[in-house]
Amino acid sequence: MTHEAYMQEALHQARACLEHGDVPVGCVIVSSEGEIIGRGRNRREEEGRATAHAEVEAINMACATLGSWRLTGCTLYVTLEPCPMCAGAIINSRIACVRYGAKEDKSGCCGSVLNLFEERFNHHPRIYGGLLEGECRGILEEFFSALR
Ligand SMILES: [Zn+2]
Repeated sequence: MTHEAYMQEALHQARACLEHGDVPVGCVIVSSEGEIIGRGRNRREEEGRATAHAEVEAINMACATLGSWRLTGCTLYVTLEPCPMCAGAIINSRIACVRYGAKEDKSGCCGSVLNLFEERFNHHPRIYGGLLEGECRGILEEFFSALR
């Protein structure tokens, strides 16, 4: 599968958020063999939980799939630039590579507010932004314009 095809899977997760009035953010985690081992979406409203972000959910599922907290060699695809909590979870799970879609000006930790991955932590994943950026931003813009 291509990077775009994996991001389409993350977008599919994001669309499922709309059913519960959650901000549409979706995530998948892909093993070094190219298999999707974790899926997640934002469920803050659905579960009434501040930590129910797409990346955390996908990381939890991927760890359960592999039976390990180490997601060495895995790539995380997420429709929106990760927040500080999720950037921390990415570091803690040793994910090798992050590919995100749209930038997040208010909480993004891949360079928008700050770049947490350039700090002196013990793990430094590779970061690539702008994958299917138009689609990833579009679904958010639709969501917020429907609220107004
Ligand atoms: Zn987050």
